[in-house]
Amino acid sequence: MYKVAKLIISSYSKKEKISADDIDNLFSMLYKNGQILNNWIIEKYNDRFEARVTTTDEDSLDSKYFNKYITNQIKKFKVGIEIIADDALASDSCHCKEHSYYIISVFPNDMTSPIICGDCGREIPLIRIPYLFNEEEHYSILTFQSIYNSVDNLWMNSLSDRFSKRQIIDPKSQLNIRGLEIREELEKKTQRPVYLLISNPIGGYFEFKKNNKNLDSCPNCGGDFKFLKNGFVDKVCDKCRMAFITHEEK
Ligand SMILES: [Zn+2]
Ligand SMILES: [Zn+2]
Repeated sequence: MYKVAKLIISSYSKKEKISADDIDNLFSMLYKNGQILNNWIIEKYNDRFEARVTTTDEDSLDSKYFNKYITNQIKKFKVGIEIIADDALASDSCHCKEHSYYIISVFPNDMTSPIICGDCGREIPLIRIPYLFNEEEHYSILTFQSIYNSVDNLWMNSLSDRFSKRQIIDPKSQLNIRGLEIREELEKKTQRPVYLLISNPIGGYFEFKKNNKNLDSCPNCGGDFKFLKNGFVDKVCDKCRMAFITHEEK
């Protein structure tokens, strides 16, 4: 369950002044490391700063998860951390010990992890996902999520139908090619199958019939789907490592 945490940040001595930018930088680093969500608030008081952040679990702000950037930055101040409540709007995340496969799926406008456990269908907090490429943070995954959300917003608001629709539904679009590079790297690091969810059909209520035609073969290779029961997705192409969700046709 996602939690709300309160952080109290003060200087080691009265002479030292803390800059709010330094604190903001620390939170950017914690966000890129998957330890908090992108929604912090920093409050200024005479002798200290206080901040509210959303974090993924009871222990997800522990120093054992820090990368070298955070370890250096946090040395600049005295920091007290307290978990104060559950995040009332958040759903629970995955607690499976192992995952037989993973799905990369960006929920439009969602700020939490886009990596889904194939077994329970819940998201896996990024602190439990290995770093990709040569990063020491989750920069690639979070950037992909942010770009995906931007394209999806364009589509939902119909500002650029053809471009944004193609980016989302076509396995060969630049957006999905980036998703597939991340997929391949995550599969290498986890040694488990990782599928990219291709949102085809695209869903939504806009031109419902046209946009909700379900596929009967893989749009990338033309091969047969493997059908899954009770999963987060219901069909995959094992060869292309793409996953799909069948939409109810009206
Ligand atoms: Zn799970
Ligand atoms: Zn295929």
